[in-house]
Amino acid sequence: MNIHEYQAKELLRQYKVATPDGRVAESAEDARQITKEFGGQSVVKAQIHAGGRGKGGGVKFATDPDKAAELFKQMSGMTLVTKQTGAEGRKVHTVFISNPVDIERELYLAFLVDRASSRVTLMASTEGGVEIEEVAEKTPEKIIRVIVDPALGLSGFQARQIAFGLGLSGDSFKKAVTFLNNLYRLFVEKDCAMVEVNPLVITKQGEVIALDAKIGFDDNALFRHPDVLAYRDLNEEAAEEIEASKFNLNFIKLDGTIGCMVNGAGLAMGTMDIIKYHGGSPANFLDVGGGATEEAVKNAFRIILQDHAVKGVMVNIFGGIMRCDIVANGIVNAAKEIGIAVPVVVRLEGTNVEEGKKILADSGLNLIVAKDLKDAAEKIVAATK
Ligand code: GDP
Ligand code: MN
Repeated sequence: MNIHEYQAKELLRQYKVATPDGRVAESAEDARQITKEFGGQSVVKAQIHAGGRGKGGGVKFATDPDKAAELFKQMSGMTLVTKQTGAEGRKVHTVFISNPVDIERELYLAFLVDRASSRVTLMASTEGGVEIEEVAEKTPEKIIRVIVDPALGLSGFQARQIAFGLGLSGDSFKKAVTFLNNLYRLFVEKDCAMVEVNPLVITKQGEVIALDAKIGFDDNALFRHPDVLAYRDLNEEAAEEIEASKFNLNFIKLDGTIGCMVNGAGLAMGTMDIIKYHGGSPANFLDVGGGATEEAVKNAFRIILQDHAVKGVMVNIFGGIMRCDIVANGIVNAAKEIGIAVPVVVRLEGTNVEEGKKILADSGLNLIVAKDLKDAAEKIVAATK
């Protein structure tokens, strides 16, 4: 789960990580008022779960309170397109007003879980403010990394190594070390998957401040962080994913045309691979899990059919704990209720497979039954071409 910049900054403050003063504005008048409190100037920032807002027009400087009110009106409700949103952009529901700071240098900082070493890794660079992917590509030597030993935590020498690598000295150096230690504590205690501060700013006064912050959490740990879960913003999630989570189904939106209903993550991967292998491309996959009920299967099928990108559906279920007749009934009921306008290929295998196939055949519905996985992939790709 990801959260907004203003929420991330609330967490940073809880952990005594320095960040500029800022508040969400509820109205243009509010934006004007907050800007007055900040001494007459502010930075008006659109809150969406995507970066690159600055270049896309989602971060603007207000030279006076009236201008802040005007920018608020411009930004709230606008569809913001940035490098990270895709062409369709994201609608801005929340506008954050930040107290401006005098920037001396913009740096980059991120804690993330490195899969190769299975450890929390701290990445930093003197090239802040710009996209880090670009730095990684063109000047990889400008990215410094330390890998944190989970038993020791971020050690003093590692924090100093980063601060030194960022070219800091004196007071800023000490402040950066404290900043890193506090941020690491937040990362671990809140079960984060990623904390990115870009830019980390050194002000003209030598302060070390998080000017922007992006935090992603490990979904599997959210149950123990009700405070974080309260930050969830459904506006930022695909409608189908929200609908699926209501029924304890895992729905992942992708950008192809074939909807996939499967059980188990491994089978999801296998299904997507074989669709790709045969020249198709998945629009989504919905994992109904191990012991899904007929009702869950029905909901799953309905959710897939509601995805407008879906030009055909491939059902690939291995009946272990799950019985194939239950799957078949779920599909048939969903199809009868909603109607199916796209080709549906079903591949069932395992417990009660014959009953399952019979239910599909007797349904009178136009379902294509496949004899094996390869056959299913070929049929759905052919039917959607
Ligand atoms: P992003 O583009 O979505 O990553 O949004 P950021 O919050 O990182 O803002 C983009 C850029 O706007 C930063 O890199 C800064 O250069 C600039 N910016 C943001 N806030 C301030 C501020 O308070 N003062 C100044 N001078 N520049 C700011
Ligand atoms: Mn940024």
